[in-house]
Amino acid sequence: MNTEEQFKNIISHCKEYGFIFPSSEIYEGLAAVYDYGQNGVELKNNLRTYWWKSMVQMHQNIVGIDASIFMQPKVWKASGHVDGFNDPMIDNKDSKKRYRADVLIEEYIEKINSKISKEVLKASERFGEKFNHNTFLSTNERVLNYKNEIDRIEVILKQSLESGELANLKKLIEELGIVCPLSGTKNWTDVRQYNLMYSTQMTATDGESELYLRPETAQGIFVNFLNVQKTGRMKIPFGIAQTGKAFRNEIVARQFIMRMKEFEQMEMQYFVKPGSELKWYNYWKNYRMKWHLSLGTNSVNLKYHDHLKLAHYANAAVDIEYSFPFGFKEVEGIHSRTDYDLSRHQEFSGKKIQYFDNETNSNYTPYVIETSIGLDRLFLLQMCENLKEEKLENGEIRSVLKINPNLAPYKIAILPLVKKDGLTEIAEKIYNDLKFDFACFYEEKDTIGKRYRRQDAIGTPFCVTVDYDSLKDETVTLRNRDTMEQSRIKIDILGKMLSEEINWKNLLSKL
Ligand code: ATP
Repeated sequence: MNTEEQFKNIISHCKEYGFIFPSSEIYEGLAAVYDYGQNGVELKNNLRTYWWKSMVQMHQNIVGIDASIFMQPKVWKASGHVDGFNDPMIDNKDSKKRYRADVLIEEYIEKINSKISKEVLKASERFGEKFNHNTFLSTNERVLNYKNEIDRIEVILKQSLESGELANLKKLIEELGIVCPLSGTKNWTDVRQYNLMYSTQMTATDGESELYLRPETAQGIFVNFLNVQKTGRMKIPFGIAQTGKAFRNEIVARQFIMRMKEFEQMEMQYFVKPGSELKWYNYWKNYRMKWHLSLGTNSVNLKYHDHLKLAHYANAAVDIEYSFPFGFKEVEGIHSRTDYDLSRHQEFSGKKIQYFDNETNSNYTPYVIETSIGLDRLFLLQMCENLKEEKLENGEIRSVLKINPNLAPYKIAILPLVKKDGLTEIAEKIYNDLKFDFACFYEEKDTIGKRYRRQDAIGTPFCVTVDYDSLKDETVTLRNRDTMEQSRIKIDILGKMLSEEINWKNLLSKL
């Protein structure tokens, strides 16, 4: 399967097995808006739970909040979103399709990177055991030329984005000969900026006023800084975490749930003493990578990507990228945002937003380290990483979602072999005993083989089959999703076995 087929397969799997449906599908859908189905919502909730437990419950000095989606419009003026939350867009005159100019260039760079990977692969096959990866990268002439070309493009891209000289972006696109993937032509318009915020109206007694749907959750944290710090008697360094919906008018909505107009973020702002921010930046950079690895994601599929363009207020920023079927793309950002946000809110609100440091007897505006991850992109990462097609001995292919058991929509499926002779009564009793502690699935229909396949496809780590032996010796067949091994287990120790195999502590203690 090539990567394009792999991605199509993931999208259709998500639909077929109740993970993700296109929004309003019976009305032909709505571009870049999706609904989570019966299994998707469970997996998404579990991802959110793991994030919340690891960020809030595991840290004495981090607390959570749940701020509203609507905020006073002045918030967005202060945050810079009204004036500066723009994407540079370019249209192809022939296909009439609109693209993000910087993304077109980044995709071009990604193509050069894959040429480098091909050279590496060829050479490693040629040289076998003698192959030295680092030496090859630093000496091979073709690779060095590719790397120089990437550096050159990145410098122009960075300068154009930072200076806002959009004409230079267009020049670069033309110079690189980038064509529209649809029309195949280079017939481009000028690059223009588009604001990404959605607005709506709020009716009040004195008329209508414009409101924005929040484009990020972070501002709800900044404007509550004093409330939380004072009522929680928080001492610096401390963090405030939040998960919730955000909305962006993404003009180029593509790649399934990668770029949505309505999506969910999980953010944590860590408030620190000025001067200590880079220490904490590195701490959170490492911690967040560890977090991704703890879920079993292969380290070769994750990488850091330092920001080419630092926002004027940031003094460090990195993305954690995952190797999606369409290339390495951002899943999470870690940013050192100095005192920009709190200072701006102090300026625009006229309220003093400072922290009194008992030790030094002085006031200061804390600096902020932010970790910001998209829950939907994390969901897609989990699907891409863990959905496997395996060939069985009988030649059949099984689709199996080998996600961490804590994330699985159901932890156990309870399957009576037949619907008679008292087997369903035993199965129902097992279900009713376990349902208090575990998400259980119960099913009587179809052959046992078909039922196993369906559970594999939705990632259920264990199936138990109640059969005629269960009537005699109070045991069931326990089947493992990953190994497909089957063993007999006493019904009365099922709960103990599950709680040993599946618990948040197993995951959280890896951090
Ligand atoms: P991109 O460059 O891909 O547009 P961004 O840098 O604008 O992303 P941030 O503003 O840093 O993203 O948002 C933090 C996280 O929110 C991202 O790492 C991503 O996981 C998620 N996110 C941002 N925009 C979207 C979107 N349109 N759909 C889904 N998730 C998103």
